[in-house]
Amino acid sequence: MIFRLGCLLLLALQMCRVGYASESLPLVQLADQEQVRLVPDMVRFWPESKQDPIASPLGLPESGWHSIGRSSINVGKHDYPVWFRFEVANDSAHAITRLLEIRWINLKLVEFYSQDSHTGAMIKLEAGLLNPKSASSNNNTSWVFPFALQAGETKHIYLRVASRFNVFLPMYVWEEDAFSEAQWQRYVWYGLAFGVLAAMLLYNLSLYVFTRDNSYLFYSVYAFSVILYEGGLTGVGDHLFWGHNQWFRVNGFALSIYVSFFAAALFMRNFLQLKRWGGWVLHLNTFFVVYWLFSAFVLLFGTDFMVTINELFALLSCIAALATSIWLWIKGNVSARYFTIAWGGLIALTIAAVLMMEGVLPYSMLTENGQLIGFVLEMLLLSLALAERINRERAERELAQSKALNMQMLMNSEREEKLKAQEAMLLMQQETNEALEARVAQRTQELERTMTNLEIANRELAKLSVTDPLTKVHNRRYFDETLAREIERSSRTGQALSLILVDIDHFKQFNDLYGHLVGDDCLRLVAATLKEVASRSTDLVARYGGEEFAIVLPDTKQAEAYLVAERVRSKINQLNFIYKGKRIPISASLGVVGRVIASGEGGEAIIGAADKALYEAKNQGRNCSVEASAAG
Ligand code: GH3
Ligand code: MG
Ligand code: MG
Repeated sequence: MIFRLGCLLLLALQMCRVGYASESLPLVQLADQEQVRLVPDMVRFWPESKQDPIASPLGLPESGWHSIGRSSINVGKHDYPVWFRFEVANDSAHAITRLLEIRWINLKLVEFYSQDSHTGAMIKLEAGLLNPKSASSNNNTSWVFPFALQAGETKHIYLRVASRFNVFLPMYVWEEDAFSEAQWQRYVWYGLAFGVLAAMLLYNLSLYVFTRDNSYLFYSVYAFSVILYEGGLTGVGDHLFWGHNQWFRVNGFALSIYVSFFAAALFMRNFLQLKRWGGWVLHLNTFFVVYWLFSAFVLLFGTDFMVTINELFALLSCIAALATSIWLWIKGNVSARYFTIAWGGLIALTIAAVLMMEGVLPYSMLTENGQLIGFVLEMLLLSLALAERINRERAERELAQSKALNMQMLMNSEREEKLKAQEAMLLMQQETNEALEARVAQRTQELERTMTNLEIANRELAKLSVTDPLTKVHNRRYFDETLAREIERSSRTGQALSLILVDIDHFKQFNDLYGHLVGDDCLRLVAATLKEVASRSTDLVARYGGEEFAIVLPDTKQAEAYLVAERVRSKINQLNFIYKGKRIPISASLGVVGRVIASGEGGEAIIGAADKALYEAKNQGRNCSVEASAAG
């Protein structure tokens, strides 16, 4: 690819060269010389034009040939074939055979003409890439034509050459054995160089297969394109790679140039990680990737109309690549350092080769093969750099991974701690809950106990509220309620209801005589006696007030009630109330009433009737029971 840069330089130099000049042609003495390198001074040329096609050396003018005017035999680009001639001489006393080698394979057409020493007939040998391989006897990395010279003979050699590139003719005249020997040496060196390139290709390809890292793949593609390119440049391609395929013989070199520029741009894109940098470096690279791919496609589809501008773009590609890598180097991209050295070294060696072609630098193995050496070194250095980059990236990745791992571990331990804390909290909560539940149970029990107590207390209270505190029989309130209820029942059922009012006789006097406390004892005793007599479950004994009691007898007629009253009176009268060792007689008067209560009748009537009977009993002298009269 760098050759294209060379071509451009050549063009520039061509413009500066001195104009065509016709000079006398020096003889090239071949006797006793194993190898003669033809220099521009020994050669003249005559370019054909559309108007002036020349089919045979016989049509060529005798004079007016152009001298090369430069230090190498390079006459630039021509659309039509260019004729060359030089004169060889054998000043020895014996016949010699020699080989003319044109060590530049990329010529479409090469016709070799020399006059037969005996017959004087013009011998024509045809070669060039457009000539099918089978039709040419040439089986070499360069174009080789044999010719003979008799003792003392001098003859002109004519060449008719056409090329799509510069018409460049590095020529040597060889003694046959020396040529074979030199070829062997050359092949050994080519073998070494191509071997290294192939080894790098296969090595990186296998790395790609195993690691799937695209960098290796791009490197391999680049290495492959370099092998193709160097094949095209050195003639090894025509000799070994293209085989008899005419398309590849003619176009292989150009295709290899475009593909290697494309592959180099792709490799660079990946190797320098241009996507990460973005900006102009990425856009420039994208442009060249697309441009060279497009060029290759154009060529594949049959035309190479881009060949002229491609020289310019080849130069621009090289400059852009170098500028990009230097810029990235300055910006701190470590890979760019290697790339700049490798790429810069290659360009320097290429320029040296180009300057050699131009004759500025002396011819040597180094200048002729500089570019191949440059490629081998570049590929080695880039492979090393690739390994370094991948190693560096792995180290970075490992660092990041170990950081991530540490972070993960930290997070795990934090999570564990959190879990532990949660567990502890849960346990605490559970314990608290249990304690709470126990407390609730305890409180509930206490509450239940309290409720029971309360109920008992309430019941007690309820009882108290209807009980006379002194005598422990029912009080007046309860009597009123019960009487009202029983009146209602009697009027409803038609059963008789009886009421007895009991009044202790002369109780005021009793109190006065013995004191109130003894009076209270008497009241208690009388109450107990009443309860004893009115013992039916439906019977009610209540303290009506002071020393008066009432007995309610449901479902009891007045006569029956009277009997009860009499029994009560008698019992009271018989009470054995002892005060200070002395029996105190107690008596009571009772008013009895008993009847079926009429509907709507209140309690006043029956109480009034009982009261009236009691009054009557008092009047009759006390200690007696009086029944209410039916009228009363
Ligand atoms: P009578 O034979 O006519 O019924 O005469 P009495 O003295 O019993 O009649 P009175 O109604 O004048 O007197 C009732 C007395 O009963 C007056 C009061 O001192 C007494 N007394 C009323 N309540 C109580 C009490 O709770 N305890 C005591 N010890 N005496 C009471
Ligand atoms: Mg009274
Ligand atoms: Mg009384």
